[in-house]
Amino acid sequence: MTMTQEQVLAKALYIHIPFCRSICSYCDFYKMVAKESLKEKYVDYLLKEIQIKRSGFGDLKTIYIGGGTPSSLNLLLLEKLLRGLQECISFEQIEEFTLEANPNDINSDLLEILSKYGVNRISLGVQSFSERKLRVLKRGHNRKDVRKAMQLLKDYGFDNVSVDLIFGVGEEDYRTFRRDINLAIRYGARHLSPYTLIVEEKTILHKLVGEGKFFEMNPDREARFYSKIQWHLQKKGFSQYEISNFAKPGYECRHNLVYWNNEPYFGLGAGASGYLENTRYTNVANLDSYFKGIDSGELFLSETTTLSKTDQMNEELMLGLRKVEGISLDHFQTKFGCNLISAFPFIEKLLSQGFLTLQSDRLYIPIEKLYLSNEVLVNFV
Ligand code: SF4
Repeated sequence: MTMTQEQVLAKALYIHIPFCRSICSYCDFYKMVAKESLKEKYVDYLLKEIQIKRSGFGDLKTIYIGGGTPSSLNLLLLEKLLRGLQECISFEQIEEFTLEANPNDINSDLLEILSKYGVNRISLGVQSFSERKLRVLKRGHNRKDVRKAMQLLKDYGFDNVSVDLIFGVGEEDYRTFRRDINLAIRYGARHLSPYTLIVEEKTILHKLVGEGKFFEMNPDREARFYSKIQWHLQKKGFSQYEISNFAKPGYECRHNLVYWNNEPYFGLGAGASGYLENTRYTNVANLDSYFKGIDSGELFLSETTTLSKTDQMNEELMLGLRKVEGISLDHFQTKFGCNLISAFPFIEKLLSQGFLTLQSDRLYIPIEKLYLSNEVLVNFV
């Protein structure tokens, strides 16, 4: 499938770098360990894709370079990419520019380049400070590396730092995870994303589960963990604004809010997904096909789905209810020309069961039920 040059405008741009220094035991993202020559070729093609799509970049407010591990690109290559982006996008209009990084990659030279090109948010793949957990997850850093990285980020004036943490790794106790949270905060995190470990197929952990060498956390225990995390982070001054995201006031991730607000965004790079003109698409997750697509002037897609009005309304509901603030009834009415509650009759039932709350203009999931949101909604939408 192909998609030609987009003329549409979107507020957010995601760029995928599918390279990592090593492979973590739980990861099912599109990524690989690659030679420098392949990375160089990829960045060249990414720059061509940026050129193809540049006419739509006029409204951009956020850029997010994720992966993979974007910080694993050598500095010359990373700078080449940032320079190429700067030639096509007026960076003054960008309010939030995030780069995902591994703690071990943070050094002065990298931060100088990021500052020079206006990157103002770092999403750090910490996952844990526990040596045992990091070994199970096959991460290449330790607590000292994270402390050093976060100190350097502070020294270079990066105060918008987000830390990813994973919980539910085997039989870990809550106290170990609370220590992870406390250390992340002590080292300067303003945004935290605590995620449950999900053992996906085709991962090292999945194989270990099959061999009886690793056990997933019991879901009830996981749910109890989650509510303790919510309570603890609230005490620490972090507001929850999405199922897995907590922030100090003003540090909510604007880029990810575009996804949850069901707004359009560009996805660039092999395996990246985007949402434009009511169509969800995913670029082909194969480098050879990605290169061929760019050479032909069209992009090869592995998936493309044009959403009907009903699909769009369903997605607005599913995505919007991930947010703690939920959905504005007025906004829904303006966007789709119909009343949210009348459009989804099951809402009344969920309201009476306490799975949803309606307060003035907002429909939302009570915070203590957020953890169950997917299970509840999937049965209805
Ligand atoms: S979790 Fe991140 S760093 Fe680890 S393999 Fe996956 S993309 Fe790479």
